[in-house]
Order: sequence, then structure tokens, then C-alpha cells
Amino acid sequence: MPDNQRRRTDVVVIGAGMAGLACATDLIRAGRSVRVLEAADAVGGRMRTDRHEGFLLDRGFQVFNTAYPQVKRRIDLRGLRLRPFTPGALVRTEDTTLRFTDPSRQPGAVADLLPGRLAPGRDLLALGLLTARDMLGPVAGLKRRPDRTTLTALADAGISPDLVERFFRPFLSGVFLEDELETSSRFFHLVWRSMLRGTLCLPSAGIGAVPAQLADGLPPDTVRLETPVAELTDDGVRGEDGTEWPADTVVVATGPRAAARLLPGLDVPATRTVTTYYHAALAPPLREPTLLVDTRRRFLNTCVISEAVPGYAPAGRSLVSTSVLGPELPGREATLRADLADAYGESTSGWEPLATYTIEDALPAMPPPWPLSRPTRTGPGRYVCGDHRATGSVQGALASGTRAARDVLAADSARDTADARHG
Ligand SMILES: Cc1cc2nc3c(=O)[nH]c(=O)nc-3n(C[C@H](O)[C@H](O)[C@H](O)COP(=O)(O)OP(=O)(O)OC[C@H]3O[C@@H](n4cnc5c(N)ncnc54)[C@H](O)[C@@H]3O)c2cc1C
Repeated sequence: MPDNQRRRTDVVVIGAGMAGLACATDLIRAGRSVRVLEAADAVGGRMRTDRHEGFLLDRGFQVFNTAYPQVKRRIDLRGLRLRPFTPGALVRTEDTTLRFTDPSRQPGAVADLLPGRLAPGRDLLALGLLTARDMLGPVAGLKRRPDRTTLTALADAGISPDLVERFFRPFLSGVFLEDELETSSRFFHLVWRSMLRGTLCLPSAGIGAVPAQLADGLPPDTVRLETPVAELTDDGVRGEDGTEWPADTVVVATGPRAAARLLPGLDVPATRTVTTYYHAALAPPLREPTLLVDTRRRFLNTCVISEAVPGYAPAGRSLVSTSVLGPELPGREATLRADLADAYGESTSGWEPLATYTIEDALPAMPPPWPLSRPTRTGPGRYVCGDHRATGSVQGALASGTRAARDVLAADSARDTADARHG
């Protein structure tokens, strides 16, 4: 074997994000030899956590949802030592802060839902019906509903423009990473269902603990880090350093931009960019693990993340996470800090800026009609998976990886059957 050629495997998976790790897990369970080639110095893709001066900083703020079907199937939740956020959110308006809670989990908050308190009775009825339908109805029915923008779907459900502005727009813009609510209503209903049925939380060791757990379940040496793939060849892939990795089958499990480069002609969606600012404070500006969102769209969401997971900050410090739409801009941190002083109702002048993460391609844009799942096979022995082939979420990435593995195995068995017939 030449120096620049590695041992042959049945499958090479490109990318060790959630999709690639799920795909590799299923293929290995089915008896295939698999190599996962990852460009970065650790697994996780968009779900990684850095350590910085005793703080845990996720690369872009995100929450983990325990109700996603793929999460329930694949993840040992206990092993993650999850810490929950308060169900619901605080909404900072022009003149006050409103608390929207889920009364089924916080019975004490039922009074907030008295007509007129947060919204008129008509709105509360519409919200109750929408919620009951999404939460209790079969998921298949939900997927079959016509796809529209979320804004249209909310209006059709009888939610008034006032409640959209006071709650849905500020809250959902942090989920979709866009504030026009132009995202697919099917995706909205699925996410709404998962939020109502599950718990929004974070692992004690940071969001990166989730993919790390999947990677730990693979045989040693399956994942090869710092190995960027330059191109697919007739017999596998070639690394950027010229090394050949021969394989019968290649699964491209990268984000959309790299997938389009590796598989020319692949249709990939536009993406959303988000920037997360981390600040250290001597005392928590809010003494509860609750997301604070903003009707004036100055930020997507902010929270004292160490109130949810104390281990995110060293003793005596608090970690505040704030996300905004788009890239980092000159002077933005200073403006944001002033906005946060208003939002939290206390001075932020003593806060220490710790780090800023801009995540390009954080999520695929998902305008309607958005197919919840796309084909994985792009040619003989070539497959693609990742959240851009399903939905921009942990559930979407895992489901897409699962489907790619199933399609690889189905093609193998179809070939075996054909060989047996002709042999
Ligand atoms: C800031 C932010 C907030 C989010 N919030 C949430 C949330 O609250 N809830 C939720 O469910 N989801 C959320 N998401 C989405 C979720 O994190 C993603 O959908 C999911 O992690 C995508 O996984 P993936 O495997 O499809 O892609 P990725 O995680 O992008 O993995 C692709 C991998 O491929 C590697 N790669 C790329 N090119 C090459 C190459 N040439 N050779 C080798 N390797 C390569 C990359 O390094 C990467 O590791 C959020 C994402 C971000 C960024």
C-alpha cells in the first residue's frame, strides 16, 4: 500500500457532527467498517464547548431539547447531567417585563394567564387550541399540514398581531435565527410540540458533551480528527494533504457549504448567521435560569447561563450569554451592553467581555414549502446527510444521519440480492 493510501473501509463518513456520528453509529452496528474523517480538532461540528478562564463557552448559545425523538432514542440523558431552564420566557417590552410560562408545569403561574393580564381572552383561547393540537395530536398529522410561513400560520390559528409582537416574534426569532417569522410552519409546529413535551436544558459539561457521548460509543480510532477532505474520488476520498482513503461508499455529513463543494450540483439552502456574546458579571443580573427576549429586536435572547448550569462559571462569577442576528459589527458589544442594562434593569458597566462567537451557517434557512426530509443518495456509492437535508436542529441532524445509514444498508442489500440472482 503506498504511503499516502490508508486501509480500505466499507464507508467513509465526512464530518463528525451529530449527523455523521449518528450515521457512523448505525453503520457500525450493522457490521460495516467505517472511518469518520473530521476537519476540526474535535468532534461536534456546531455543538462544541470551549473552556476559557474557568468558564464553559458553547460556540454559539443553544439549548438542548429532551423531547426530540432521535434524542430519546440515542442519547443517555442521565449521563449528560442536564440542568433545566425555566419553561417559558421573560419578554422585555418598551415599558415592562412580562413573564410567559407554561401553566401545566408551573401551576403557580396560572394567574398570569387570566384574560387581559398577558393577552386578551380571545388570544388565550387561540393559543390554548394551537398548543393542545400541537402537543397532543399525532406527529404524522402535523407533518401533513400545509406548509406556510410561521407568521401566516399564527394568524390563521387566530393569534392576534399584538400577541405575535409581544411573544411569538421575540421568542421564535431566537429559535429560527430570523425575525420575520418566514420559517416553515411545519418546522414551527414540530419545535413547539417538542418544547411543550420536553425540557429545555444544557448538559453540565456544555453542549459539546452531546456529540462527545455519541463519539464515545464508536470503536476506538473510528474518528480521525484534523483530516479535512478535499474531494471525492472514484474510489473513496482524498484528504487535503493528498492522502487517499479508499472506500466503497462515501457519506458527506458536513454543513451545507462544504457539502456543495464536495458534491458539485447539490442543492443547498441559504443559511442564518448568529453572534453570541459572553460576559462575566460579579453577580447574576437575573437570579433564575430563564431566557429573556426582546420585543424591540435589540437581541435574540439573553440569559444568565450559570443560573441554569452553575459549572459554566467559576465560583463567585456569573456567565451571561446574549445572541444577536447576523455577524459581529464594530461597536456592537458596547451598544449591546447598554441594551442589556435596560433589559436586566441594572448596570452592566462592570461586566467583562469574555468572548464573541460569530457562527456563519448556524442554521439552514427553512422557507415553506420545506421538505422535512430529502433524499440522501446523490449517485452510486455517494450519500449526503446533515441538518440542511432535514431540519435545522439536533433532531434534524440525527434523523438525517439515521436515514443516510438506512439508505446505504438498503443499497447494499439490494446489490447482494442482485448478485445472488446472477451468481
Ligand atoms: C448558535 C447555534 C444555535 C443552535 N441552537 C439550536 C437549538 O437550540 N436546538 C437545536 O435543536 N439545534 C440548534 N442548533 C442547530 C444544531 O446545532 C445543528 O442543527 C446540528 O448541530 C448540525 O449538525 P450536522 O451534523 O448536520 O452539521 P455540523 O455540526 O455542521 O457538522 C459538520 C461537520 O463536518 C465537518 N467538516 C466540514 N467540512 C469538512 C471536510 N471537508 N472534511 C472533513 N470534515 C468536514 C465540520 O468540521 C463539522 O464537524 C443551533 C446551531 C447553532 C450554530
